[in-house]
Amino acid sequence: MSPNPGRKLALFLSALLLCAGIVTLIPDQWLTGSQTCHSCHTAQAPAGHMLFRPNYLGYNSLCSFAPISTLLLAGTGLLIFLTSFQFRFERWGKEYRLIASSASFGLAIATLVPFSGHYTNLIGGQTLCPAAPLSTGLLAGLGLIALNGFVVCPFLMAWRCRCPSLENTLDVWQSPHRSINRLITLLVTGRMSEEALRRTYRCTLCNGCWLAWFNRQVRNTAVNKGLVPSHLATIRTNISATGNPYGVIADGGMAMDKKSDTLLFIGCTGRFRTPEILRAARTLLDRKGIQYYSLPDETCCGYTLYNLGDRSAAYEAVDKNLERFRREGIRRIITVCPGCYEAFTTLYKGRNSFDLEILLAVDLLKDCKITAENTIVHEPCHAKGRGEMVRGLLDGAGDLSTGGCCGAGGGLISWDRMLATSRARHLQEQSGRTVITYCPLCYLNFKRANPGSVEDLYMMMAAHVEHAAHVEHAAERM
Ligand code: SF4
Repeated sequence: MSPNPGRKLALFLSALLLCAGIVTLIPDQWLTGSQTCHSCHTAQAPAGHMLFRPNYLGYNSLCSFAPISTLLLAGTGLLIFLTSFQFRFERWGKEYRLIASSASFGLAIATLVPFSGHYTNLIGGQTLCPAAPLSTGLLAGLGLIALNGFVVCPFLMAWRCRCPSLENTLDVWQSPHRSINRLITLLVTGRMSEEALRRTYRCTLCNGCWLAWFNRQVRNTAVNKGLVPSHLATIRTNISATGNPYGVIADGGMAMDKKSDTLLFIGCTGRFRTPEILRAARTLLDRKGIQYYSLPDETCCGYTLYNLGDRSAAYEAVDKNLERFRREGIRRIITVCPGCYEAFTTLYKGRNSFDLEILLAVDLLKDCKITAENTIVHEPCHAKGRGEMVRGLLDGAGDLSTGGCCGAGGGLISWDRMLATSRARHLQEQSGRTVITYCPLCYLNFKRANPGSVEDLYMMMAAHVEHAAHVEHAAERM
């Protein structure tokens, strides 16, 4: 795709004109404190002079050409904005950004230069600009927008330390606020370039930028328009064929006979990628005397599909599970997977009167303390708020946590595995200690990044419990 400055320039012009149109709607008194004659610019106008020029809303306007200027400015701005989508290219060349930002900054500065005008500017001087002091901020803001992505993008720099997908790049088009551009473009044109689609899925939906909602909407809108990325297509096919995103045919090895109305929902990652965590969690639950069972043909909770934007397929999976839970007479669900926990407490909640008790297994282990020297806790995105409790169980883990997403979330692990593991490696290296997590997906990602620097909480606790039982047993035999 070759760069074309036309579209960006058109967007910039349309923003400028729309702002100017909005300015004509602002009552004169708000800024000048008095009604001004638009013929001679005095409050005490001689007979025959026009004291004020009513704008479109009927107020005295800042603009001598109101009300017609409102329609002209805003209308032209809107027209340019709509036609700008005819331009098929995205990048705005360096020289155009420089021209546009210099012009905007120049005009903003001009509104501050003392001049024998009739309007008061931002620093209390006289100016000829009827829109001052508002125009100063508007023009300077437009200058910043024009500069955005050229010299220093203020948003990019602010988000770089919070956003896992920006960690190794200064790609301005990956900056979180670009998801707003992508959503608007997609809604207005119904189109999306392959590059934009790729960037949309290079996000973990961790919400570190507070803008994850936009990427979620972009994904969902794109899928509804038939723009389906390859990994989503594969996951969708796998779930419909085998009941899990990995496409593995389950052998029922994790199933247990029904002993109570509490279901241990295993989760696809736990079942097919980290069964050792599940075994450890079961050891701990058994030690506590908790009665539960698991299904031999458990199917995906649907959260992966939801995160990837395929909401109709996600709710299909949800409804299938709800029907199964109802048939089984389940009253309580325990899960080891924070992603499944998030699904049950958000997607399932209230749907078809779903009101089962949902528990994350770690919440049942608050009395199991172990020694964990030189470690740091990683709080999984969907099990937030438990960091302090978990640190309290770990003697020697300190007060810190790694902070942020491990890099696997939002389907990134299946879209760009290198980026996902590089984020995990970064967290491991930054902390300089062994990372302890309590999420099968985080564990998998950290393990792929550096197997020697990660531990799973359930496995550590189970090893501790088994060791203590072994010692006790040995003591009894002596
Ligand atoms: S949700 Fe997280 S990964 Fe996605 S853009 Fe925001 S900070 Fe970056």
